[in-house]
Amino acid sequence: MYIRYEVADHIATITLDRPEVANVQNAELLDQLDQAWTRAAADDDVKVIVLRAEGRHFSAGHQLGGDGPVPDKITLEMVYSHESRRYLDYSLRWRNIPKPSIAAVQGRCIAGGLLLCWPCDLIVAADDASFSDPVVLMGIGGVEYHGHTWELGPRKAKEILFTGRPLTAQEAEQTGMVNRVVPRDQLDSETSELARQIASMPAFGLRQAKRAVNQTLDVQGFYAAIQSVFDIHQTGHGNALSVGGYPVLADLARMKDKLR
Ligand code: ZN
Repeated sequence: MYIRYEVADHIATITLDRPEVANVQNAELLDQLDQAWTRAAADDDVKVIVLRAEGRHFSAGHQLGGDGPVPDKITLEMVYSHESRRYLDYSLRWRNIPKPSIAAVQGRCIAGGLLLCWPCDLIVAADDASFSDPVVLMGIGGVEYHGHTWELGPRKAKEILFTGRPLTAQEAEQTGMVNRVVPRDQLDSETSELARQIASMPAFGLRQAKRAVNQTLDVQGFYAAIQSVFDIHQTGHGNALSVGGYPVLADLARMKDKLR
C-alpha cells in the first residue's frame, strides 16, 4: 500500500506513504489515494480530511513511464485516457468533496504534487516547503490541472512556468496559495489543531461554506478553464509524440539541474 488512512476525532488523515521515492505518484498510488478520499467522503463520522505525506518531501510528482515496460508505440489517446482519469477527474473530485480538507506540505512539491494539494481547501506549509512546475522544460505548458492562475494570479503563474523555479513557502503564502507557514517540526501539530478547530463547527454549515466559495469560482470560469487548459496540456504531449515518439520532450539533465 502506498496510502495510509486513519480516522480519529472526526478527522480522516490520509498519508502518502512512499517516502523512499519522495512520494512520486504511480497509477496505484493515485488509485489508492482516490479510494481513501472516497472513503472519507462517505463516512458520516468524518468532518474534516487531512492530506499529509511521510518523509522529507510531499511529492516529487508523477512517475514518468509508470512501473511497467514502456509500450512500443504510445498514442495521444493512451496519454489522454490515463491523464484525464488520474490527473484531472481525480483532482476535481477531491476538490468537490463536500467536507473541508487541509493539505500539510513539507519539502518539495513538484508538478504532479500540486495536483494533490491544490484540490484541498486549505494548505499548511512547513517553512522548508517549495512548490514548482518545471514541465515547460519537457515541452509542456504546465501540469494537467491548471490551478496556477487561480492560485497565484497571472503574473506569478507565468513566472514560475516560464522559469521553472520553485516558489518558497513564504512566497506561496503571499499569493494566498498557502494559508500559513509553520516550522517544519510543528507541521503535523499545527495542521491537527486547525483540523480540530474546523471539526468543532457544524457539518452542514461547513459544507455550505465550501460550496459557496467553490461555486463562486465555478461561476467565474474555474471549471471551464480547468477543462480547456487540460486540452492545451494534451497538445504538448501530442507535439512531443510527433517529434520523438514519447509524450514529453526529455531534457532530463536540465530537469535535474532545476530540481537541485
Ligand atoms: Zn500530462
